[in-house]
Amino acid sequence: MDARKHGSMSSTVLGSQAAVAPAARRSVPLPRVWSITGRDIVAILVTNGVFIGAMWVRHGGLEQVATPGGAWIAIGQVTGLLGTYLALLQLVLMSRMPWLDQAFGMDRLAAAHRWIGFATVWLIAAHGFFIVSGYATSEGASLVGETWTILTTFDFVALATFGFGLFVVVGVTSMRAARRVVNYETWFALHLLAYLAIAFGFLHQLLVGADFLHDPLARIYWTSLYALTFGLLLAYRVIGPIRLNLRHRFRVARVVAEGEGVVSIYITGRDLDRLPLRSGQYFVWRFLDGPRWWSGHPFSISSAPNGAWIRTTVKALGDDTRRYQRLAVGTRVLLEGPYGVLTGIRRTRRRVTLIAGGIGVTPLRALVEALPGRPGDVTLLYRARQPKHVIFRNELDVLAERRGIKVHYLVGRRGSVDLPDDPLDAFGLTGLVPDIADHDVYLCGPNEMMDRLTETLGNLGVPGSRIHVERFAY
Ligand SMILES: Cc1cc2nc3c(=O)[nH]c(=O)nc-3n(C[C@H](O)[C@H](O)[C@H](O)COP(=O)(O)OP(=O)(O)OC[C@H]3O[C@@H](n4cnc5c(N)ncnc54)[C@H](O)[C@@H]3O)c2cc1C
Repeated sequence: MDARKHGSMSSTVLGSQAAVAPAARRSVPLPRVWSITGRDIVAILVTNGVFIGAMWVRHGGLEQVATPGGAWIAIGQVTGLLGTYLALLQLVLMSRMPWLDQAFGMDRLAAAHRWIGFATVWLIAAHGFFIVSGYATSEGASLVGETWTILTTFDFVALATFGFGLFVVVGVTSMRAARRVVNYETWFALHLLAYLAIAFGFLHQLLVGADFLHDPLARIYWTSLYALTFGLLLAYRVIGPIRLNLRHRFRVARVVAEGEGVVSIYITGRDLDRLPLRSGQYFVWRFLDGPRWWSGHPFSISSAPNGAWIRTTVKALGDDTRRYQRLAVGTRVLLEGPYGVLTGIRRTRRRVTLIAGGIGVTPLRALVEALPGRPGDVTLLYRARQPKHVIFRNELDVLAERRGIKVHYLVGRRGSVDLPDDPLDAFGLTGLVPDIADHDVYLCGPNEMMDRLTETLGNLGVPGSRIHVERFAY
């Protein structure tokens, strides 16, 4: 329910935007809305899984279960096939395909990717264990002896075992305890090992896998699955971003301090009025300002698209975000995206409440400007610990006045003299927005605040389908 063209929403120059404001705002196309739903996608994935199982039965998988050794081998084959399927699915979930993003949102995709990743490691471990046990039982050999025989006799088994080791490294470094000590970049670099592991797995499957050896249909099917997966990654993670950046050639136009450790970065480029973009979305940004240019970070756009410049607002939380506070005008920028579904397409009700915590105000600031509505339809609750942490105050006040948006600044530490009661508990929320049960609610802030709010909103009668969330950390 975004207005069809953002650019026509307002021609007003707001607050700090004045510095690089266009003479007149231009229309911006909106990204395509895909008709495929999350349910359709799950159905496609399940059908694929069933088909893989059916192919295994077709080439005699079930006939093996007549003997104890054969039964172990059958379990080993099924866990191997499922583990491989999930490993490919892992990559597809992170391919940044627009219809996956639209159906689920990147944070839910990342959560699914995480759990499917752990399942993949266990299934592949089970595959190795059951296959070795099956052959050991059939041949009356010891587990250790059989492991050695299989490792040294069959092509690519040793390499696939090494690949499994890489999967374990990826899995262990993704556990919560490890994530707390391993920095994001190291964790991400280790994650790339999964591609190598999958390549080794493919060679193993090609040369010794029961599916490949005995069933031409399965061979074609599996090869197509691998090709499709890598094709999607190539299209959306490599070719798409290259085309976007060659076309628009983004550069930093201005860096404006918004508050303590927070800057707005304005970028310009060619044909920005042809870049489909929606308020509430984000890009992955790479600033070509030195040796760490390769490190990309997601940042939301913090004002409605206007066809002349794009703005994001960044809080200094780590090494890179501290560096971005001092970016030079003219610095080249590589963008990937836009991504994200904290946008008007999720809206189902006329009335909307936006709840921001800290720097989570950035996408909501853009939505405040862009969401269509009559005066009183849109309410912003903006939570900050201290007055100095409130950014965009002038802009929000101008928008509140001009568009009839209700803005409540909820500033102070919970339990302090300024804020003795929690303004975002059930009592506080219904005091601020009495009919909130009938609203769409957009949330962006610290995870802990959003988890608490999701529960409170549920208790107040707002169904999950009307709570729209963007997580800045996952
Ligand atoms: C969808 C989304 C939109 C965001 N929008 C904004 C915004 O508009 N303004 C803003 O200030 N911040 C935003 N963030 C958060 C911002 O991306 C991180 O603060 C930033 O990446 C930290 O980088 P750093 O190297 O300075 O800090 P680090 O110390 O390296 O990281 C601090 C934390 O940020 C997270 N992080 C770091 N790099 C990435 C990455 N590439 N992808 C995902 N998470 C990462 C990790 O959880 C890490 O623990 C957003 C995050 C997401 C996921």
